[in-house]
Amino acid sequence: MGRKHISLLLAVLLVFFGIAGQVLKAEGQGAGLSRTAPEAVAYVGEGRGCYGAIIVEVTLEGNKIKDIRILQHNESPGVGAEAAKLIAEEIIKYQSIAVDAVSGCTKSSNGVMAAVEQALGKAGVNIDDYWKKPDKITARIGNIEKTADVVVIGAGGAGLAAAVSAHQNGARVLVLEKMPMVGGNTIRSGAAYNAVDPKRQSALGIEDSIEKHYIQTYEGGDRLGKPELIRTLIEKAYPALEWLESMGMKFKDEIFTVLGSLWPRSHKPEKPLGTGYIETYMNYIEQQGSEIEVMLNTRATELIVENGRVVGVEAENEEGTVTAKANNGVIIATGGFSANVMARNHYNNMWPDLTNIKTTNHPGATGDGMWMAEKAGARLIGMEQIQLLPMGDPETGSLSGNIEQGVENRIFVNKYGNRFVDEGARRDVMTKALFQQPDCYMWVILDKHSYPTPDTRNNFNETIEQLVEDGTAFKADTLEDLARQIGVDPANLVRSVETFNMAVEKKIDDPFGRTLFEDKIDTPPFYAGARVATVHHTMGGIEINTKAQVLDNSGNIIPGLYAAGEVTGGIHGSNRLGGNAIPDTVVFGKIAGESAAKAE
Ligand code: ADP
Repeated sequence: MGRKHISLLLAVLLVFFGIAGQVLKAEGQGAGLSRTAPEAVAYVGEGRGCYGAIIVEVTLEGNKIKDIRILQHNESPGVGAEAAKLIAEEIIKYQSIAVDAVSGCTKSSNGVMAAVEQALGKAGVNIDDYWKKPDKITARIGNIEKTADVVVIGAGGAGLAAAVSAHQNGARVLVLEKMPMVGGNTIRSGAAYNAVDPKRQSALGIEDSIEKHYIQTYEGGDRLGKPELIRTLIEKAYPALEWLESMGMKFKDEIFTVLGSLWPRSHKPEKPLGTGYIETYMNYIEQQGSEIEVMLNTRATELIVENGRVVGVEAENEEGTVTAKANNGVIIATGGFSANVMARNHYNNMWPDLTNIKTTNHPGATGDGMWMAEKAGARLIGMEQIQLLPMGDPETGSLSGNIEQGVENRIFVNKYGNRFVDEGARRDVMTKALFQQPDCYMWVILDKHSYPTPDTRNNFNETIEQLVEDGTAFKADTLEDLARQIGVDPANLVRSVETFNMAVEKKIDDPFGRTLFEDKIDTPPFYAGARVATVHHTMGGIEINTKAQVLDNSGNIIPGLYAAGEVTGGIHGSNRLGGNAIPDTVVFGKIAGESAAKAE
């Protein structure tokens, strides 16, 4: 029985036996220590998060919220789950439910607040007292001075890889992260990691080579990526995966083809979403004590440049300004700008107006590092190269709720039930085709092959039953019934699936030229999920060389400045292959850490 189930059982028992609301003895009570101290009383409350119920136990001493325990939840590990924890801490700190939701995790935050409110309601206290906006005036310390060998801006995949690598190369490291939690987009991602793998691919009979991965990446980006950067990425992807394994990270033996990756070479971590990467780095970091410091809620604002060399970073947080001096170098790892509508509209020339297109990204993906670097003389390249996916949730733009499990076993149909594209094509090709469909949305159609058991999870840790229950996915025993549920023409849907099944048999897809197949869609239950275009990745950014050193407008190195991950440009060209972003963060994060640590 998992921890969640034990917690749920406990909550159910508490409610069933009417224990909730009864007195639980506070420590020291009954020992005659204090007759007047209020008794500790626990109440259970329930709210709705992103993925169903959040059940909390609130302990009150008199009117004071002494403790909040989250007994049950289904929120995403490292994201919604982390937000729920942060909100519980804030509520206790400020004795108020009216705390600010963690940005990017509104539903999880509101779920905890609602659960606490319900528990307080059971306690019979005056709820209005707890809805007062907290007075959050934090003592301003003024200017905080910090010095490290290497200062890293951003605690997503690339920043944390860089921090670990810099430390392994002898540096003391300071990481500045503007959000209240680490992980960036990396922790929210589907986590696919492309690498030519001598072990896993050959065990499955998949032919692959460095050359093939290189060509697909170069051609897939319309030959706009810099060959030497692509080569570094492709050649070092597998050694970087082994580096992660050496720190305890586990990957499954299964290899799959993630959306738009063009070939089966995507690896899946054992842990859900991108938590495996972030936990691996954070475990390492936590073991180093004060040698690696991570400052959360601390936003870098400017690079400090002295005599043409970058020597530190100005930042700010609730307590004041932070001046972080770097003995050796500064690494920018602040990710892309998909969540910055103004910037993407400014640079976009590939797509129709992007103002109302949602994004898969977390709200911190605003491109800060690019503007800071540009101000310090760095060259930004390929800024118009913005990646959209055809796979966003129609309400939120998020990738979660995406029912596909890989490219081979699903098709896309438009609102009439007709296929319209090679579903194994490049991401930009599929998204452009989607924009040409009526009302610009599509249905992903698949069958039991993708969900052999009810507890099979998608890349976002969701089961199909969960998705059907909350209305994100539809399920039926026949294609006709599925068509009726989603409002498409049943005859068209049946024909689309039949023609696809013939293509699987003959390995020839006449209308669309698809080449990636595995099973037919012929085994009930059948499933459908609606998807729209969503902004996913910005391929442009700071120009670097193969040592992750930042270059200026004349191609010269800017001393003391390094960059890695989505903040950089020039690798993926006009279209990033699915599954190439995470190895980009690991490979170039690791290189940046090493280069900065060894800088004179
Ligand atoms: P990558 O995949 O390249 O590592 P991520 O999106 O995973 O990119 O991580 C980038 C991180 O940088 C995020 O956690 C984001 O909040 C952080 N970040 C962005 N801008 C700043 C800033 N100005 N100061 C500090 N951290 C920042």
